[in-house]
Amino acid sequence: MITPRRGATALVLSALLALAACGGGGGSGAAGPAPEPGLPRRLAEQATADGAFAHLQELQRIADAHGGNRASGTPGFDASVDYVAGRLREAGYRVDTPSFPFDTFAVDAQTLTVAGAPGPAVTALSYSPATPPGGVTAPLVAAPDTPADPTPGCEASDYANLPARGAVVLVRRGSCTFTQKQQVAAEAGAAAVLVGNNAPGPLGGTLGSVAEGRLPTGGLLQPDFDGLLPRVGTPVTLVLATRSATQTTRNVIAQTTTGRPDEVVMSGAHLDSVPEGPGINDNGSGSSAQLELALRLGGAPAVTNAVRFAWWGAEEEGLLGSTNYVQTLTPEARRDIAVLLNSDMLASPNPGYLVYDGDDSDREGAPPGPAGSDAIERTLTQALGATGVQPRGTDFDGRSDYGPFIAAGVPSGGLFTGAEEVKTAEDAALWGGQAGAPYDRCYHQACDNLANIDRVALDRMLDTLAVGIGTYAVDLGGPNGVPTREQRQTR
Ligand SMILES: [Zn+2]
Repeated sequence: MITPRRGATALVLSALLALAACGGGGGSGAAGPAPEPGLPRRLAEQATADGAFAHLQELQRIADAHGGNRASGTPGFDASVDYVAGRLREAGYRVDTPSFPFDTFAVDAQTLTVAGAPGPAVTALSYSPATPPGGVTAPLVAAPDTPADPTPGCEASDYANLPARGAVVLVRRGSCTFTQKQQVAAEAGAAAVLVGNNAPGPLGGTLGSVAEGRLPTGGLLQPDFDGLLPRVGTPVTLVLATRSATQTTRNVIAQTTTGRPDEVVMSGAHLDSVPEGPGINDNGSGSSAQLELALRLGGAPAVTNAVRFAWWGAEEEGLLGSTNYVQTLTPEARRDIAVLLNSDMLASPNPGYLVYDGDDSDREGAPPGPAGSDAIERTLTQALGATGVQPRGTDFDGRSDYGPFIAAGVPSGGLFTGAEEVKTAEDAALWGGQAGAPYDRCYHQACDNLANIDRVALDRMLDTLAVGIGTYAVDLGGPNGVPTREQRQTR
């Protein structure tokens, strides 16, 4: 589960075409044993919280042995991949660990000195190159910032008559990207860029990627920027001590050798932690539940539809593993995915019992998921209800790996026991636990360890996921059927 960014807009979804009807999976079965109608119940009985907890203990051991975390790009993540992939191969799965690049960025220091005196606060834009040791010292130059030029610092001509070479240029935010503004300034020979906000509040932003970062670029509050504009020609020293790198990490993808490969039931959980802790609830819990189910199902079960499990890398860096996966599938391969079930944080210590709101019946945040997401929500809600709790909906707010699948039109759903949000009195009346306290008080912290797991919640969510996977692996039709391959509107 990633942290919501302030002011971030909800996941943008394209309008969905209403489907006239949701039929069954249809088609002839693939080679292999006849599908086992009792599979959902058998899986739920055989997969145990003890089994999932044993995987959590292994993930904790891995974190302990590798600096306390399992973040993508670190040895703790690689050891997590090796553990999961190894167990799956033993169980007869076809396993791939496709790698993909991702950018990292950190800031050690960011200061601005104006004519030798401390200047206003400056915030390095993401992927800003670092200034040299000691910073850049140069005079201020301001890109045209008048009503007559509504595109400040967006064109080379903006600097045609200015002493921009070697300077620190002041540029107002707006009308083109930060990336373009620093690109244009770089071509004019500037040494660094200060972007001033055009609205109240801090200016946070990104240059897009390590590869696109050309000049050290910092952001200023609007009043600070306006205060510097009259001081053109004044020498300033800008220190942006940043560290950027392009690293490589992996997903784990495992598929049954049985079942239709063009009607795939997919289950995904992110395997990486944040750097701050071992990530046992977020998301060792989803990863371990899914591994327990995969091992109980086995690589060659009696199913109608193939089952594909994914353990994503770099979720905590911005859903990068799932995004890379969806983007690199062909349109045909995207259409092969009938269902995506997302498991992110399934054993929060002050648990909620949440199912993603596929039909948007809660009328909150994001619109409904792609057609079929409503049926997935019903399947999971009924299964979770059968474990003895009354589930509630939760918005597809874009904070986990269903995001790229929904954007591609794949029917999606999933389970969640809550992160840093506070449990309400109403929630506590429904589920017990502590009202007024977070669902997970150790969210993204070092204390997200084995002691941060609610085993009752883990057990309930494991059973629910078992029923979800088992139901659709046997039959995509039935009372909670999802669109067939011909009906799916993937893109
Ligand atoms: Zn998280």
